Amino acid sequence: MSKKFKAMRGTHDLLPEESLLWRRIETAFVDICRRYGYGEVRVPIFEATELFERGTGFATDVVQKEMYTFPDKKGRSLSLRPEGTPSVIRAYLEHGLSRKSKVSKFHYMGPMFRYDKPGAGRYRQFHQVGIEVIGTPSPQADVEVITLLWEYLRGINLKDVGMRVNTLGCKNCRERYSALVKEFLEGKLGDLCEDCHDRFNRNPLRVLDCKVASCKEAIGDAPAIDAVLDEECIAHFDEVQQYLKVAGVDFYVDKKLVRGLDYYTRTVFEVFHSATGVDSSLGGGGRYDELVQELGGPSTPAVGFSAGLERIVLALKAEAAHADEAASMDVYVASIADESYQYAFALAGELRKSLRVWLEFESRRPQKQLASASKMGAAYTAVIGEDEVKKNTVVFKHMESGEQAEVGRDEALSWLKNRLGGE
Ligand code: AMP
Repeated sequence: MSKKFKAMRGTHDLLPEESLLWRRIETAFVDICRRYGYGEVRVPIFEATELFERGTGFATDVVQKEMYTFPDKKGRSLSLRPEGTPSVIRAYLEHGLSRKSKVSKFHYMGPMFRYDKPGAGRYRQFHQVGIEVIGTPSPQADVEVITLLWEYLRGINLKDVGMRVNTLGCKNCRERYSALVKEFLEGKLGDLCEDCHDRFNRNPLRVLDCKVASCKEAIGDAPAIDAVLDEECIAHFDEVQQYLKVAGVDFYVDKKLVRGLDYYTRTVFEVFHSATGVDSSLGGGGRYDELVQELGGPSTPAVGFSAGLERIVLALKAEAAHADEAASMDVYVASIADESYQYAFALAGELRKSLRVWLEFESRRPQKQLASASKMGAAYTAVIGEDEVKKNTVVFKHMESGEQAEVGRDEALSWLKNRLGGE
């Protein structure tokens, strides 16, 4: 028996019905980015492994455990991108985009790859949308990035979303905080999971983000960052919060929020939904003032977010917030005799310039075609037989009311457009 192929574990196919919903949320994302003045970048799906080691962070779980890394034919180490930000920064530096304007605003979209344990809302190939603002330390940029994510989710009709924000402070505050947390954790090592022992050595702050119940309990009274934040970092975070309120973003401060990637400084944030839970965010991001330099550029502050489309779709479905997408046809052109097929073919071609038109690949009996038309939800069926060809007309049947009208061939398009426009 020949082998049957299946999609690899952690990957999924998108079939036509669901892709309509995906298209809608992707288009909504591009629309809102345009309204805020962001330009699209498209970056490769694989890069030099070192870009992610340096960018995402050598010590992160993503780089340590989850990257798809392989040698190419010349022995160079490549990796499928686990996230978009390092590639966007690489492109920004490679093309000298800082010379074009002081602040650059980009949006991107596409598949990301992480060798994660698949589960609900967790895939090995998943899809992110994201934005980056590069070149300004202003808290207003943090506010814009968070607001855009919030407005995007509201705009696609998600209601049950929550936003948590925190600050990790600048590099210096973060280092002080990391030392403080490490000191605190030293007495708790016995309660931490195996991964957290590792994190304790690589990046103790990441322990605060662990989802394992015993770890959560152990870090319950971990010191908050407030103790070590300097004045500038406090003022920055105050302004972010003040303007988020003005922008109408419904957020709360979560002092345990640290995020999974190593490059964040100052503001971090995450949006979550009741369907996926606080531990499984729809999207998140933050400020990363050290990353551009880390990737070989001049010291350049930046801020951004990414959000996962699979999880957004899950949340939309849970809220039943997705209106049924209009998959149906405007008109089903039914040729009912071999002699009328060419006439129907030409008519369908003309109508397709502006309408959604279905045409079978051969003539079939009228009853069969009317049944197909109603199954696919076509608004009208154009019945074409030998009579219509002779008279140079089209008989349109309105599928819902059953009403029929015979229309001259030359008027067919404008007649139909008028009728469809009025529905
Ligand atoms: P991150 O790049 O880790 O900050 O994640 C940003 C967003 O990407 C998350 O909030 C999720 O929506 C999505 N995401 C991350 N990892 C996965 C995954 N393995 N499967 C599906 N979505 C993911």
